Amino acid sequence: MAYAISDECISCGACAADCPVEAISEGDGKYVIDPEKCIDCGACAGTCPVDAPSAQ
Ligand code: SF4
Ligand code: SF4
Repeated sequence: MAYAISDECISCGACAADCPVEAISEGDGKYVIDPEKCIDCGACAGTCPVDAPSAQ
């Protein structure tokens, strides 16, 4: 399991700074989560201003 970022993302970068395992990077038009690295901590969901990350 991993978190994923929806199209609501406004590419602010806040989640990438808060991810403890550096699973989040800037993608094409939005930020993306590497499911191989994500440990399901939920920090990105807590910090995102538009609630784009969610557990899959
Ligand atoms: Fe990183 Fe945690 Fe978000 Fe996974 S749930 S991408 S580990 S901040
Ligand atoms: Fe996108 Fe939310 Fe991450 Fe900002 S915190 S880059 S809006 S997913």
